[in-house]
Amino acid sequence: MVPLTEQQVMVRDMIRKLCREKVAKRAQEADETKEYPWDLHQLFIDNGLFNIRVPEKYGGAEMDYTSACIMVEEVARVDGACANTVAHHQAGMCCFMDGSNETQKAKYLPKAGRGDYLVGFALTEPNAGSDAFSLKSRAVAEGDGYVIDGTKCFISNSGLTDLYVIFTTIDPALRRDGITAFLVEKDTPGLVIGKNENKMGLRASPTRQLIFENMRIAKENLLGEAGSGWELVLQSLTETRVLVAAMALGIAQGAMEAAVSYSKQREQFGKPIAEFQGVSFMLADMAIQVECARALIYNIASMVDQGKRDQAYLASVAKCFSSDMAMKVTTDAVQVMGGYGYTKEYPVEKMMRDAKSTQIIEGANQIQRVQIVRNLMKMIH
Ligand SMILES: Cc1cc2nc3c(=O)[nH]c(=O)nc-3n(C[C@H](O)[C@H](O)[C@H](O)COP(=O)(O)OP(=O)(O)OC[C@H]3O[C@@H](n4cnc5c(N)ncnc54)[C@H](O)[C@@H]3O)c2cc1C
Repeated sequence: MVPLTEQQVMVRDMIRKLCREKVAKRAQEADETKEYPWDLHQLFIDNGLFNIRVPEKYGGAEMDYTSACIMVEEVARVDGACANTVAHHQAGMCCFMDGSNETQKAKYLPKAGRGDYLVGFALTEPNAGSDAFSLKSRAVAEGDGYVIDGTKCFISNSGLTDLYVIFTTIDPALRRDGITAFLVEKDTPGLVIGKNENKMGLRASPTRQLIFENMRIAKENLLGEAGSGWELVLQSLTETRVLVAAMALGIAQGAMEAAVSYSKQREQFGKPIAEFQGVSFMLADMAIQVECARALIYNIASMVDQGKRDQAYLASVAKCFSSDMAMKVTTDAVQVMGGYGYTKEYPVEKMMRDAKSTQIIEGANQIQRVQIVRNLMKMIH
């Protein structure tokens, strides 16, 4: 694996300690009640998790992309829901940084630099998930701005977010070439936050609809040019997908650790179950998969930090592999722990539910495979 820098190791150790001591014990309860853990939100603000990549001149820590992936992995190791909140804020920030002009940066980055200002990413609609070119949320030019009507769904952090990067169309018939991004502040008249979805996993991380009703947005809040929204999605894609891969990696690492500890203590037939080859090989397979995902993710993150940001093919490979891996590892962790693993006394059943989300978010894995094959067809003659 690409060796981590001193600063990256410091970030990892700091967040690991914080999560072990403060986040882990809250994860199960927040999952049960589906209530957003505001105490942990404040903890993340106090420890700089939300402004980790904001440039220093705006008050942030100006750390690299690898550090952001490490942060997501470490949070996910103890709680997928909190990791989803942290990762989706980073995804929103990636789009903002890529698409914003200097005036927009000067307006919003000092707020993001404070560390308590969340940015969201809103692309998905009820009838436009995988088929993102079918967006129906419409932006109509009027006076010195736009009027937007439509509905977004499954938007992470809705209700917590201060600034949404939303994708609409100026003309549905234009499909890709109609997609247009805007910056929408949370208290904009006409922005309605819908009900919180009752999800299988990531339950304490809110996922809601965003409804736009005659929502007026000034031209200054156009992100990039009208019709250039898809370019922005493509530009940010490597980083947003690898963040989800890092989340899957953290969940799998946490499940593997729980399974190993349990297998050393649980005795059947007079010896620890870890001594049965049927169990120990499952643990070995977990380690193989986790280490492969980690090597892949940090290799891509390092390339991004070197300025080689266009890694869409590898990002799809990493997102697909890591999320499928997390599903397998968490399912096997439940198996290793038998009936106890299936109960809420242990964290692995939650990890299994949380892991499932990573196969869907930021483009379902079938769509990643479609992209991977398209690249293969071009690369291999
Ligand atoms: C917890 C959670 C958080 C999310 N957060 C956000 C967010 O913050 N912002 C945001 O914009 N979106 C978010 N999403 C939405 C997510 O990106 C979409 O759910 C995802 O892109 C899939 O879209 P869909 O749900 O409409 O499924 P569909 O597109 O309806 O797909 C259904 C199934 O059909 C398959 N399928 C579709 N087309 C093809 C094809 N061409 N070939 C093969 N198979 C295909 C899919 O892979 C999937 O298995 C979130 C989703 C979840 C579950």
